[in-house]
Amino acid sequence: MVKKLTKEKLDSIRQQIVDNKICAKLANQATNLVFGDGKPDAKIVFIGEAPGKNEDLTGKPFIGAAGKLLDEMLQSIKLERKDIYITNIVKYRPPNNRDPLPEEKQEFLPYLYAQLEVIQPKLVVTLGRHSTNCFLPGLQISKIHGQPKNIIIKRSSRMAEILGGPGDEIMQRVILPLYHPAAALYNGGMRRTLIDDFQKIPEIVNQIETNKITP
Ligand code: URA
Repeated sequence: MVKKLTKEKLDSIRQQIVDNKICAKLANQATNLVFGDGKPDAKIVFIGEAPGKNEDLTGKPFIGAAGKLLDEMLQSIKLERKDIYITNIVKYRPPNNRDPLPEEKQEFLPYLYAQLEVIQPKLVVTLGRHSTNCFLPGLQISKIHGQPKNIIIKRSSRMAEILGGPGDEIMQRVILPLYHPAAALYNGGMRRTLIDDFQKIPEIVNQIETNKITP
């Protein structure tokens, strides 16, 4: 029952991205909106940057080479895609896989935060500098990867419109910044670090659930 309501709320956020013509220029060139995938009430949400070619063609996040590495790392901590939720900041493919522009990230941000408010995960894992800096602006991923951090998101009037509730509510979460799997694919040292950092996830979730880490 709870799950159904959560799914409906996520569907509504997705529809609003379309109805409100978010990043219309990207939308016009895209095959699919890549909204997010996985368990609607997952304990862990992973956030990447933007869809690539394969994701654009299928509408599913992280299904190319970076997604394969992500699947292997999930398996190593005994998780599958169906146990987690995964999304991106920007939900349409930027042309030629260029970096998302600051204004594109800005436009999508209230929708990403709204997704988190609906899912209410215990832990938010940001993959790479783009998604890390949406929550921890100005910090360098090379300095903070693998270290849990606390974040506070105040519900903006835009988010309140999207969610259909009051504004100003506070959401507190624990976030774990990791290197992006695509960046780690061809860099042995970074790949090792990412795999090592990934192993910390179950213990961090356990510490949040037993109040040893509080958001
Ligand atoms: N890289 C991302 O950041 N997201 C995807 O969905 C695929 C590759």
